[in-house]
This record gives sequence, structure tokens and C-alpha cells, in this order.
Amino acid sequence: MSQTFLPFTRPSIDEETIASVADVLRSGWITSGPKVQAFEATLSAYCGGRPVRVFNSGTATLEVALRLAGVGAGDTVITTPLTWVATANVILEVGAAPILVDVDPVTRNIDLGRIEAAIRPDTKAIIPVDLAGLPVDRDRLYAIAGKHNLRVIEDAAQSLGASWNGTPVGNSFGNGSDFVSFSFHANKNLTTAEGGALVLPADIDPGLCERLRLQGVQRFADGGMDVDVLGGKFNMTDIAATIGLGQMKHLTAFTARRRELARRYFAAIDPALGLGLPVADFNDCNWHMFQVLLPAGTDRGKFINAMKEKSIGVGVHYPPLHLFSLYRALGFRGGDFPEAERIGAATLTLPLFPSMQDSDVDRVCSALTASLPEIA
Ligand SMILES: *Cc1c(COP(=O)(O)O)cnc(C)c1O
Repeated sequence: MSQTFLPFTRPSIDEETIASVADVLRSGWITSGPKVQAFEATLSAYCGGRPVRVFNSGTATLEVALRLAGVGAGDTVITTPLTWVATANVILEVGAAPILVDVDPVTRNIDLGRIEAAIRPDTKAIIPVDLAGLPVDRDRLYAIAGKHNLRVIEDAAQSLGASWNGTPVGNSFGNGSDFVSFSFHANKNLTTAEGGALVLPADIDPGLCERLRLQGVQRFADGGMDVDVLGGKFNMTDIAATIGLGQMKHLTAFTARRRELARRYFAAIDPALGLGLPVADFNDCNWHMFQVLLPAGTDRGKFINAMKEKSIGVGVHYPPLHLFSLYRALGFRGGDFPEAERIGAATLTLPLFPSMQDSDVDRVCSALTASLPEIA
């Protein structure tokens, strides 16, 4: 097999961005500075003018959001078991406990119909995740949160560029949205290599957010400083922010291209293979990933190898997190969340990134058709 390897994802960084990064490196100011401020302003404009602060990861943004929401020891936070483990790790990090709610078998996102039954007197917040960039229903979500007086931290790590009923994720939904957390990890739809952004609700002081981001430090005009709160070391560099500024120019085109490629997958996947397909949403979903469910009984490890032999990279996003040792030790067990377990065991992420060619999609689909019988 001499075909070039097709990874499941790859960032698109243009030459102008690379040149801008070189300029920053030569400028004498490489950590947080004017580029960070410019990136925050650009993101804020995208989010309808809401305050935005950038961080060095999308994990740091979630953790700081929980702290700003006042979540800590003795509290519980509701989230999904079918997500990158960071979503739940941050709940433990602030001393709270995760309450997991099974996913909707169609959207693969948290099942909104099951949230109310899971709310306890000590529940302070919900962290919904827009898996693969398919947004959780913001109307239902905020109705539930409002009724039970819960904070919402939208884990939108995968959904920058997606929208809910046409309004871009990051903007306000209904009567006032809460926190929105983005990640700019290399595999996300917009990257800064590593990074994240937190969109703040109106009742949260951006100054406190900045102090939690950097050692709690508050600086005064006379050169003095104070520390009144325990902050982390979560600031973004100007190098990363420069990559982000370059990426923002392409966000609309990236999303449009991902939607085209997703459409092509729907047209080119042989229905006879019996693969479980994602929701065919080409208006709101940003197609962060194109995930199929392998037919029951397929050996996924063998299948991944059969694809690799055809020079195609695939991914698994994600094994349900409650079955990881750390979470089993907290009392979670197999069988707790049957939908997440079924999807997690069968899911496979196919290549999808903006610089992919139409012919690459066809190549992946031919490889699927050849690989399934091969391993049967
Ligand atoms: C990537 C991701 C995160 C964490 O973002 P980092 O920037 O890698 O820290 C959190 N939640 C979800 C759903 C993610 O996909």
C-alpha cells in the first residue's frame, strides 16, 4: 500500500499565520500581551460582544469556570459519560463529584430527558458537551437549568463554529446564557496548538477570571500588587494567540468545508455495511468529527488495523469515562450507562478535516467496504 497516510485529523495553518508567528518571536514579547488581547477581542465579537478570556487549555477554562460558578467540595455537577475525560476530571479537580447521565442514542449527547431525575440538593451545575460539534438543545438545557437554579458550563471544546438554531455557539441563548468553554487543542476545529477560551456570563467579574488564570495576582498603578484568591498558571502566550487570530479568518470556511465532506460521507458510505450514522445536520453541527458505529460484533481493534493497512487513520472518541479505573474507584460500574457503553464500544472516528479532498472521502468509504468483510 503506497498511498500517502490519511490521518483522522490535521490542522490547517496558512503561511500568513506562520509568518505572523515568526514576527511575534522576533518582537521581544512572546508570552501574554497584545496578541492575547486582540484574540480575546476577536472572539468576543464572534460571541455577540460577551466577555471572553483566553487560557492555555480548554481544561483550564472548565476548571476556572467551575471555580467562578462557586462549585467546590460537597457539590455535585451533572455531565455526560461520553466525552473527553477532561470534562469530568475538572469536577474532581475542584473537589466536587460528577453525576453522570446517560446519552441520547440518536444525538450521542447527554439525554436532556434524564437530567431532572438526576438532580440532587447538592447539585450546582450542568456541563453539557456538544460531542463531535452537534449542539445540545440550548432551549431545553436552559429551561431545565433555570427551573432548578443550576449553573451551566457549556463544554463547547468541539463546537466552535457550530450553532443552535442558527445562532453561533458562544452567543447567548434564551434569557441569558452561562459559561461557554472552548478548546484550541491541535485537533479542534480552530487551533492555537494548545489553548482555550472562556465566555463569561454577565454576573461574573472578568477581573476575578483573570486572577484565577494567573496566580491570583492583581496589579496596581503604583507598581504594587496583591493576591486575594488562589489562582493557577493558565495564561495563553502571544505565540498561541497569533495562531488563533490567523485561524479565526478561516473559521467560516473551515466549517463549510467540514459540512461538505460530511455530506459526501453520507452519500458515499455503503448502507449495506450496517454502520450506525450520526445525525445528518448540515446547518448547526460543525462536524468536528464524523463518527460511525460499527455493527455489533465487529472487532474494532482488527478493523482499525485493516484501515491502517490501507493507510487510513481512524480514532476512538471516546470510551465511556465511568469505566476508567479512576472513576470505577468512585463507585461507577459497567452497566450504569448502557447507551454510552454501547456507543463507546462501537464508535469509530473517520478522517475529516478542512484540507481533505473529496477523493479522500471516497477512499475512506472504499476502505470501509473492503475492511468490514476482511475481518468478519
Ligand atoms: C478537547 C476537549 C477538552 C479539553 O480541552 P484541552 O484544550 O485539550 O484541555 C474538554 N472537553 C472536550 C469535550 C474536549 O473535546
